[in-house]
Amino acid sequence: MKILMTASEAVPFAKTGGLADVASALCRSLDQAGHEVLLVLPHYPQLLPHGARQRFQIEPIGEEFSLPVGPRKSKGSFLSAKLPNSNVQVLLVDQPDYFDRPSPYVYENIPYEDNCERFVFFSRAIVEVMKQFGPYDIVHANDWQTGLLPALIDIEARKQSAAIQRTGTVFTIHNLAFQGRFWHWDMVLTGLDWKYFNWKQMEFFGDLNLLKTGIVFADMVTTVSPTYAREIQSPDFGWGLDPALSGRGDSLVGILNGVDTDIWHPENDRFIKCNYNAETVEEKKAICKADLQKTLGLPEKPDAPIVAMISRMSQQKGFDLLKKAGDRLLNNDAQFVFLGTGERSFEQFVKELSQTYPNRVASLVRFDEELAHKIEAGSDLFLMPSEFEPCGLNQLYSMLYGTVPVVHAVGGLADSVVPVSPETLAEKTATGFSFERYSAEAFLTAFEAALAAYRDPELWQQIRLNGMKQDLSWDNIAKEYVRVYERAINKHA
Ligand code: ADP
Repeated sequence: MKILMTASEAVPFAKTGGLADVASALCRSLDQAGHEVLLVLPHYPQLLPHGARQRFQIEPIGEEFSLPVGPRKSKGSFLSAKLPNSNVQVLLVDQPDYFDRPSPYVYENIPYEDNCERFVFFSRAIVEVMKQFGPYDIVHANDWQTGLLPALIDIEARKQSAAIQRTGTVFTIHNLAFQGRFWHWDMVLTGLDWKYFNWKQMEFFGDLNLLKTGIVFADMVTTVSPTYAREIQSPDFGWGLDPALSGRGDSLVGILNGVDTDIWHPENDRFIKCNYNAETVEEKKAICKADLQKTLGLPEKPDAPIVAMISRMSQQKGFDLLKKAGDRLLNNDAQFVFLGTGERSFEQFVKELSQTYPNRVASLVRFDEELAHKIEAGSDLFLMPSEFEPCGLNQLYSMLYGTVPVVHAVGGLADSVVPVSPETLAEKTATGFSFERYSAEAFLTAFEAALAAYRDPELWQQIRLNGMKQDLSWDNIAKEYVRVYERAINKHA
């Protein structure tokens, strides 16, 4: 198949969260399965890693183009690049006014005022890619930033070009909490007729909603775990979009994310002190642990469990539970490491913890890819008490690194972590600890059970190995996406 994948971020070009990991991992695995993949991203010059222009062979391609964004026209051009370790071709949409900024969507926690305009332009640029470099069998869009694209294809592009008539569209929701909701006058920016601004299509309580637009207009809709696919069809998790989602019937499919093991595997991770696998974990992980303690300035105690969190600091990720758990969280001999950025009050909370317990808590309020790897390798437990979690990636990384996750049993966390119980221990399937009710009490009970298990070396080793021995790679997952692509294409047969 000839596949055009598009997202607003993908490693190693730009990353703010899980979408970036998933977008490039899926491209790579589709490529390995023999498909021809083009990945289209915005060009954020300020976010490119050092030496990127040479390493990724970034160079201009094609002519400058001009696209309507509401009443005005915006000029742009393409840069071509290579996704490392693959045959995946990358096109970066270059438009400095929109994308030459310090971060993709927000500055100091405040969304850019022209986000709608920026991503309308980006979506129109992808249609331009289809015209200049197509035809494609599949266009796969991700999240609200590209939510307009399925509508542009369905309403305009199919009419304009015979080659596009048979292109199937797939839209993936990585987090329903981010909807790309804008005031109604931004409908003008889309260039689409006002007749589409209605409750069954693009309108949402009087506003324009780009995530809803993707959900409604794509041939197939996917999200990043089967449980989340069910949850979001209910009012509790649907953020008002549950009717639109359940309206898609069996065209909404949940596919659990995997791990890009070229980047996230203890056997070949280039950031960690020493590489290890299931056979060597006991001895080698201890070396990574000592190295982490040294890096964090914590006492080098081999016996104290290190409890980690790497996360956006937000309500979604369970930071309110941590706050409520308060001193009971620290009522043990564990060391803690928090790496993340986000809401000021939560950043403040973890900073205060490390001031109160300087020998036991390290709080790092920044984005630090290298440290994230060291933490996965050096820690013993990983906390993900998320209120909701579409998939979650760090519990997957943790299991592969022999770092036992403690999770709230929702969304992808419920689908990926098998909680310890007499049965799962007997079957040798237990990989972590989980709690059902979203409360500080339930969280602490699970956390304390995990600490107790850590004190039982045989039990701990079993849980750790069960996690490490799983196949969490993308190879099988790509096949599931291809089945969805076939269904999308068949809708135009
Ligand atoms: P999200 O909802 O933020 O996308 P995921 O668990 O799906 O959550 O993915 C988050 C990704 O971002 C993971 O790869 C995680 O390691 C990474 N990450 C989050 N915060 C940081 C940080 N401060 N430094 C480095 N990596 C981070």
